[in-house]
Amino acid sequence: MSLSAPDPAGPNGIRPRLLIVDDQPVNIQVLYQLFARDHDVFMATSGRQAIEVCRRELPDLVLLDIMMSDLDGLEVCRALKGEAATRDIPVIFVTGQESPEEETRGLAAGAVDFISKPINPAVVQARVHTHLTLKAQADRLRDLAFVDGLTGVANRRRFDERLAQEWRACARTREPLAVALVDVDHFKQFNDYYGHQAGDACLQTVATQLVKVLRRPRDFVARYGGEEFVCLLSGVQASRAGHAAELLRASVEAAAVPHQRSDCAQVVTASIGLAVAVPTADTSPAELLAAADARLYQAKQAGRNRSCVG
Ligand code: GH3
Ligand code: MG
Ligand code: MG
Repeated sequence: MSLSAPDPAGPNGIRPRLLIVDDQPVNIQVLYQLFARDHDVFMATSGRQAIEVCRRELPDLVLLDIMMSDLDGLEVCRALKGEAATRDIPVIFVTGQESPEEETRGLAAGAVDFISKPINPAVVQARVHTHLTLKAQADRLRDLAFVDGLTGVANRRRFDERLAQEWRACARTREPLAVALVDVDHFKQFNDYYGHQAGDACLQTVATQLVKVLRRPRDFVARYGGEEFVCLLSGVQASRAGHAAELLRASVEAAAVPHQRSDCAQVVTASIGLAVAVPTADTSPAELLAAADARLYQAKQAGRNRSCVG
């Protein structure tokens, strides 16, 4: 994957999403005509509407008029920069009366650039293209920071975030949250016998198998560390989660990666510890993880290649 020059249109030709904000519809019209062909263009004619559209549509870039009657552009920009969900959307100010003072205030509010009215179409297009490219690069880097380099599933950092999110969501809806810890059996012997590279390939296979089993939008797989993976299942009852754990175990075995040095099968297998709880104020995600770890230990003790549910 190259980081050097991502196409702002995105890897799948996804059109960049642009929000144009101006309290004069005629100004919006001019910019709209410049960008409508290659971009998804949203429009807002007030500061408040601009913030609403940003929250709802998460555009890739905002062209923001400074002088507006309700909230001026500076206030809108500050509001966007103050919210986690909208913080990373670049803002370009479009201003009628450019002055060094105004530019300084705009940059302090978090803008990335200025364009003066009346606009020069070629200049606006070039600047928008530049900032969309930078935004695409930043998005790509952020994604990479959350992906495990070997297996392509989420990494531990992403898992920690996601666990906290799902914990809060399930606490709100009083739904159960299930954590499954999946640990490859006798993996040290596998590495010793087949070599570290084969070990890496085996971990990739295991990750692929787990992802194939967990298909619902809220299901989540991460590499927890070493030869251990962790899966989150939200909003499923304990019996369904137990069934899923068994499917996960069976999927690793079904990949049929030979493992001559295992004492529990001819192929690579995994043991699984599963814990399910409805989050409450006096319990924590750490306790749920600890419970899953205790079940994993039981599964190992009981002979491996099995799932234990608690
Ligand atoms: P058990 O059945 O009790 O889980 O035994 P195990 O051998 O799987 O567990 P142990 O914790 O003793 O060994 C884990 C091994 O996983 C040791 C380590 O070298 C290997 N390992 C961890 N991360 C990687 C990796 O990224 N690539 C490879 N090839 N091996 C790894
Ligand atoms: Mg292991
Ligand atoms: Mg382990």
